[in-house]
Amino acid sequence: MTLMTTPTSFANLGVTSQLLERLEELEYREPTPIQTEVIPHILQGKDLIGGANTGSGKTAAFALPLIQQLLEGSSSDKASSRKGGNFVSHLVLVPTRELASQVAYNIKSYSYHLRSQIKTVAVFGGVSANSQMLALRGGADIIVATPGRLLDLVSSNAIKLNKVKTLVLDEADRMLSLGFTEELNQILSQLPKQKQTLLFSATFPEKVNTLTASLLHNPVEIQLQSADASTLVQRVFTVNKGQKTAVLAQLIKQNQWRQALIFVNAKNACNHLAQKLSKRGITAEVFHGDKGQGARTRVLDGFKSGEIEVLIATDIAARGLDIDKLPVVINFDLPRSPADYMHRIGRSGRAGEIGLGISLIDYDDYHHFKVIEKKNKIRLEREQVEGFEVDEDYSEAYFAPMKPRAKPAGTGKKKNKK
Ligand code: AMP
Repeated sequence: MTLMTTPTSFANLGVTSQLLERLEELEYREPTPIQTEVIPHILQGKDLIGGANTGSGKTAAFALPLIQQLLEGSSSDKASSRKGGNFVSHLVLVPTRELASQVAYNIKSYSYHLRSQIKTVAVFGGVSANSQMLALRGGADIIVATPGRLLDLVSSNAIKLNKVKTLVLDEADRMLSLGFTEELNQILSQLPKQKQTLLFSATFPEKVNTLTASLLHNPVEIQLQSADASTLVQRVFTVNKGQKTAVLAQLIKQNQWRQALIFVNAKNACNHLAQKLSKRGITAEVFHGDKGQGARTRVLDGFKSGEIEVLIATDIAARGLDIDKLPVVINFDLPRSPADYMHRIGRSGRAGEIGLGISLIDYDDYHHFKVIEKKNKIRLEREQVEGFEVDEDYSEAYFAPMKPRAKPAGTGKKKNKK
């Protein structure tokens, strides 16, 4: 990997003048580090694994070269890629409906002046398939899809995948995780062997690394994991069991954040916490997979516009969502996976803004939080909220080192128990 040290411009990266004007309108004055690193490689048609913090401009990093490739494709190429059949040229797979909608929106925005030439369609479940089928008539240049609905549309012949030239897996670690294996394999089996494959994620766990070998050919690997980590401050508060709601309410009132995104681990926990906060004078909306798509969209739009100040969500909101200047993310429940910790807090501190990720941990969370720290190579000072100091009985457990595991009798030396 070569790190560029001098500030560069989109033009220097080889981005076509047809896109530069739009980037200026969007006030993208210079490329972000991930854009600087990956755009030239993608334009050269290489396979690529891109790892960079969430909010670092990954969407434009792959979308701009994709649009450019479409513009540069010869007319006969373009004709075969969509016209005359329901074909698609570039396929972007994402894990959630909201992300499909957001990424498609961004691509449409980048290609706004080229909209007569570049057709982008978002495909996701939870809404009627009819309008998506209609949009896919005559094919598409770029489809941004969640896997389930895409497969439905493929099986009803609304779209054919056998002329895909580029496959992008956004939030790739999630797309390659067990939950998506079957659907992803079905999609991969429909794609031509010869294609460009691009993987993007903030985190790439070991397990995923082995999977990628079969998907990519001599990929360029770009890892910019800690590039702007300093813009995101992380804090952890130890809390007595049963006092998390009170502490949360206190933090929200004291800090007067413009907005807060709070993560819990279960759908019903969202409603439950919203009720408890309401009793403490805080109005919160909820966002989870049991809500209808219309309600999900309304709530997310309300949060993005700033109308909704406190949002309680499950992990469907953890990935990729771009909420402008979100001041704080709070883990009311800790995420099960250490990678999801990074994704959740990464909703704040995006695009170089200062952000804050707070976790509330009680006695039961203590060891799990240590695992999260270890996996993410962080170590945070335990803090307490004034007026909610942890009980003496607990405090020792919070700060004490982990007890060594008992060894089977007769092995090794005896250790003193601490
Ligand atoms: P993403 O990581 O793609 O979700 O992007 C995060 C945010 O950064 C979005 O609001 C983008 O509009 C914004 N962004 C992406 N690239 C640039 C750039 N080069 N200059 C300014 N803002 C950007």
